[in-house]
Amino acid sequence: TLRSAINGSSSATAVIVPATGPNTKPLEVSYLDLVSEVSRYQAKLAALGIGRGAPVSIATVNSYEFIVAFLASAWQRAIAAPLNPAYKQDEFEFYIEDVKSAIVLVPKGAFAADAPAVRAARKFKAAIAESYWDAERGEVALDVKEFGALESGPQPSLWPKQHDVALILHTSGTTSRPKVVPLTHRNLTVTMKNIQDTYKLTAADRTMLVMPLFHVHGLLCGLLAPLFSGGSLIVPPKFSATEFWRDFVGHKANWYTAVPTIHQILLKHPIPSNPRPEIRFVRSCSSPLSPTVFAQLEKALGAPVLEAYAMTEAAHQMTSNPLPPAKRKPGAVGLGQGVEVRILNDQGAELPQGQEGEICVRGDNVTSGYLNNEAANATAYTADGFFRTGDQGRKDEDGYIVITGRIKELINKGGEKISPIELDNVLTRHASVAEAVSFAIPDDLYGQDIGVAIVLKPGASLAAEELRTWIADKLAKFKVPKKVYFTDVMPKTATGKIQRRIVAETMQKQDT
Ligand code: ATP
Ligand code: MG
Repeated sequence: TLRSAINGSSSATAVIVPATGPNTKPLEVSYLDLVSEVSRYQAKLAALGIGRGAPVSIATVNSYEFIVAFLASAWQRAIAAPLNPAYKQDEFEFYIEDVKSAIVLVPKGAFAADAPAVRAARKFKAAIAESYWDAERGEVALDVKEFGALESGPQPSLWPKQHDVALILHTSGTTSRPKVVPLTHRNLTVTMKNIQDTYKLTAADRTMLVMPLFHVHGLLCGLLAPLFSGGSLIVPPKFSATEFWRDFVGHKANWYTAVPTIHQILLKHPIPSNPRPEIRFVRSCSSPLSPTVFAQLEKALGAPVLEAYAMTEAAHQMTSNPLPPAKRKPGAVGLGQGVEVRILNDQGAELPQGQEGEICVRGDNVTSGYLNNEAANATAYTADGFFRTGDQGRKDEDGYIVITGRIKELINKGGEKISPIELDNVLTRHASVAEAVSFAIPDDLYGQDIGVAIVLKPGASLAAEELRTWIADKLAKFKVPKKVYFTDVMPKTATGKIQRRIVAETMQKQDT
């Protein structure tokens, strides 16, 4: 379980939070300190009444306090439910209601500022606490501001079991509302081991963590796999292209994992030459890495670039290109490590090498089912326990997986998955909007960005910029459509159904 999977030797460095300014020092925490901090925090949670199965929502940027709160929740047999701290109130309300948060952890000052997460927590009577690194006391503080419905009194300190749920995260939701994925201690530790084996992670490795911890990519590959291997982590609050190499070289990192968008941004900035970063490998995951960017990246960094394939339901990693001397192939996502991968046809029969079908996976990393979603669970698995990813692909002559498309239609903006349905639903709340259909448009930097087709109500007038400003108030910035297309009629099928692909094609003809 996550209780015994933190494997560094006690004096080794676990976490480094880089200095925030010229007059501050970096925070450096040994494995011994990390483990005692997590135990202390676990006791604080227990004293508040957080016990087995209690959902603990963590709404903070990447930080030492996030790591401590996450691990302490798991150790307490509670369930961590990380949230994007950039969400607006509507989004917080949706997630807090959906996971039935017992407590919502927010950063220092959020309570006084009446932040969106605070207002949403209050609406559903979750307890609210500020959690932050208290430099004076030298520990992570947990200041309760409101007890909400927490009234059951102190809980015993618990010891987790393998099949306890440790984490719940949402998928982005293609055809319906986002699905809730529970992941057990077992699911998480199996992925930690799989990632360690794939990249031969050891205590000598030092990771620069740039992916957000509220998704499986950052949480599993960026944080947990390195802690499992006894290595060190450098944890800035968020990715910054201008500070990346300073921290990377300054703290002697030797690898990082990121979405293609981040690699592309890094390619636009000079890589320091004196001293040069010593990179063992770089990992790319969560959306397709173009062979061009792959080649540019290998050349610029002088290190192997390994593309991997992952999803929330699999506790992140399913396949990856291997380290040298084994072959890595641009355009392919490599091989399963601790995960069985099969290409199946509609009837669930395995297809021979070279043929395209649905990518299906089986392993102890894979969730055993969505929460409260019988309909999805009924079709998510084959009779022999393979999980249907919803992705299309084939195996090449060496058995490497090549992804050829998504069966679903989510918009993948640099690894951030945006549900077109969610967007449509918000857009149609605007007083002037009659119909809205969102779709992906190609984008040089993000791979995909958001386009939206709008039919206005009779007599209404609305400028694109007005609509973008309106929606920016309702949803996180990354969900604001890049292009708004106005149209008199929405293209539909004979039966009156919307086909996003067709809408997207028709609208983009306006561009030329
Ligand atoms: P939902 O399940 O609600 O439809 P989602 O599947 O987009 O949302 P995630 O679990 O974050 O949400 O993303 C997993 C998906 O990301 C995969 O199923 C795949 O489509 C895509 N993906 C991950 N890695 C890669 C990659 N290397 N290349 C191409 N696509 C990838
Ligand atoms: Mg999915």
